[in-house]
Amino acid sequence: MHVLVLGAGQLARMMSLAGAPLNLTLTAYDVTTCTVVHPLTQVARPQTLEQAIADADVITAEFEHIPHDILEICEQSGKFFPTSLAIKAGGDRRIEKTLLDGAGVRNAAYAIINTRADFDQAIETVGIPMVLKSALGGYDGKGQWRLKDRAQAGAIWTEMQACLNDSKQQAIVAEQFVPFQREVSLVGARNHQGDIETYPLAENIHIGGVLSLSTAIDAPQLQTQAETMFAAVADSLDYVGVLALEFFDIDGDLLVNEIAPRVHNSGHWTQQGAEICQFENHLRAVCGLPLGSTKLVRETAMINILGEDSLPPEIMAMEGCHIHWYGKSQRPGRKMGHINLTADYPGQLQRKLCEIAKYLDKAAFPAVHQIAHDIQD
Ligand code: ATP
Ligand code: MG
Repeated sequence: MHVLVLGAGQLARMMSLAGAPLNLTLTAYDVTTCTVVHPLTQVARPQTLEQAIADADVITAEFEHIPHDILEICEQSGKFFPTSLAIKAGGDRRIEKTLLDGAGVRNAAYAIINTRADFDQAIETVGIPMVLKSALGGYDGKGQWRLKDRAQAGAIWTEMQACLNDSKQQAIVAEQFVPFQREVSLVGARNHQGDIETYPLAENIHIGGVLSLSTAIDAPQLQTQAETMFAAVADSLDYVGVLALEFFDIDGDLLVNEIAPRVHNSGHWTQQGAEICQFENHLRAVCGLPLGSTKLVRETAMINILGEDSLPPEIMAMEGCHIHWYGKSQRPGRKMGHINLTADYPGQLQRKLCEIAKYLDKAAFPAVHQIAHDIQD
């Protein structure tokens, strides 16, 4: 089968690698350069999007910021999964919030801001502290502001106004600040028949809004809550493919932060830690193949490699250490690759995290150092 992926980044690359053993061949469409490319080499193919759509058996997406006209053409072909609504919900926080409310899933109280008057009203209704997020185009904590004190309102409004002026479609979503203990996420797949398989929850540490460390956890009470919310969201969208839900954990109660209608960075651990990884399961779901087992087979932590293009050889030599580079050119803070660190039991994983920290730069890998420090304390 031939699959066309909208988006040509590392997620399309890893989907392509996972699909090969099943004879699933992938082509990617780079929506920023409007070219059809090979998902591994990035070499352009002499094909228009229309031709690539005609050639594909199935079309899917690896990210949510896709121009709506492209989504419409793909959906009209009848080959596109999940639906364009699911992709739009991931790319527009207004649609996302409406969807979460409609599915009856708990999320942070919010207000939509288009004008200064809306902002002043949101300060009253949502309250301070408040997290302000651009409705469109946000990722990795970009396009966000924190209002901690009313005195900051004027300066923040100036910045938000510039963002609003970028595009007529833009708006700001003002969200209540959630005093969470930790962040977790649930990645799962839903097939054409509506069957759902979810992976164990991952606990995520973000630094400066960017995911740094993600560890598969065994938390039965949270898992049950997360699975119920996952099913509510996935069913309400008649979703097909892999979907991720990010949560805030507040004293054992989960609140949805956001959804990602695609394979997710917090699910990369499944490449080594689960029976069938998220990339293969996404392809299985969209191609109408049976879903694979999401069972944990090894304790795993995923470490994002941000802004670095090499690692000390000692890391590669460590047992249970699996390196995944994305073939990208180096830029400060850029997601260049990740490390999946596996172990036979949780205590061993902790020991390995302490060991790997010795070889990783503290500034580039703050979460690993933080965890290693906590464990050794
Ligand atoms: P992603 O890269 O996951 O798509 P994003 O840029 O879309 O990220 P969010 O996930 O909405 O942004 O926010 C980034 C981080 O900011 C969250 O992981 C969380 O740590 C923090 N955050 C977001 N919203 C809130 C909130 N309402 N209260 C407290 N912290 C928040
Ligand atoms: Mg997020």
